[in-house]
Amino acid sequence: MRIENERKLDFDDVLIKPKRSRLSTRAGVELNRKFTTVNSKVTIEGVPIIAANMDTVGTLNMASSLASHNMFTSIHKHYSLEELEAADLSSDYNFATFGLGDWDRMVEFFDKLKDKNINKICLDVANGYTEVFVDFVKQVRAKYPDKIIMAGNVVTPEMTEALILAGADIVKIGIGPGSVCETRIVTGVGYPQVSAVMECADAAHGIGGLICADGGCKTSGDVAKAFAAGADFVMLGGMLAGHKECLSNDDLDKLDGNNNKIEYYGMSSTRAMNKYSGGVAAHRASEGKVSEIEYRGDVNQTVLAILGGIRSACTYVGAAKLKELSKCTTFVIKN
Ligand code: 5GP
Repeated sequence: MRIENERKLDFDDVLIKPKRSRLSTRAGVELNRKFTTVNSKVTIEGVPIIAANMDTVGTLNMASSLASHNMFTSIHKHYSLEELEAADLSSDYNFATFGLGDWDRMVEFFDKLKDKNINKICLDVANGYTEVFVDFVKQVRAKYPDKIIMAGNVVTPEMTEALILAGADIVKIGIGPGSVCETRIVTGVGYPQVSAVMECADAAHGIGGLICADGGCKTSGDVAKAFAAGADFVMLGGMLAGHKECLSNDDLDKLDGNNNKIEYYGMSSTRAMNKYSGGVAAHRASEGKVSEIEYRGDVNQTVLAILGGIRSACTYVGAAKLKELSKCTTFVIKN
């Protein structure tokens, strides 16, 4: 056993220090980013916020609303291929999500949906540290050399590098910070998210890769801190949950004026495992919980508020573009 004594930081531990700025208005701040990815060599362009691949967030309706803001959605993996074939997936902002064990579904997905031209893949596992996951990333890269691959989750530089060397273009960073995540409670494992983002961004950028900060953002200020810490993309679950776009037509019909609580649950929660895996397997423990959110209507208002907050953060430190936010940032540590 050993102990690392250096202090590690979470969103609530830091603030972005204001700096003299020549920017007169937040309206002029450019949030669009354009990257050429290291392994696929394909360009990805847009406002680099991604709706999480959770069945209460990464829905087709969410994808359509976010695409109108040039924002991305990692569409959850529980749609049937028939549902996806019938859907409008023409925007350039969709990631298709697969986990370990989804190889056959993935191959069938890209065969059947080849006309949809989806070129972004999210390979999502709770623990990105296993050799089988690294091998899976390598196999997916070999099969789809031209597709952008985002893979995770990990929280340390050496594993960020390992996934990029295995073929990932974007590495998803975050173990335990999620709002409905119980990994830290159930297993004791995790890493403070701002430090994880800083350290993994440095490692990824050193070899031409990108990172996506995943989990733990509760406010637009947290999203700004994630970008300021070096994230190229930020993935949001809870901040986008509870909106009209998260619900089926049946669920929308059930809403009335008095009882408008919407369920948001972890994809490793008992709730999700009962729904999709026939219960929690004997060797597993639930690592997610269920929370209830007041129904929040259309997601567009929330999106505008988030983007407004990030623009404002940029003006406080003199960053004319989101791209410059990290290099313009000095964090101060709260006591
Ligand atoms: P949020 O934005 O709500 O704080 O975090 C969303 C992220 O939490 C997701 O993108 C995913 O990485 C993570 N997550 C989702 N479901 C679960 C779960 O059941 N357990 C754990 N440990 N993490 C989860």
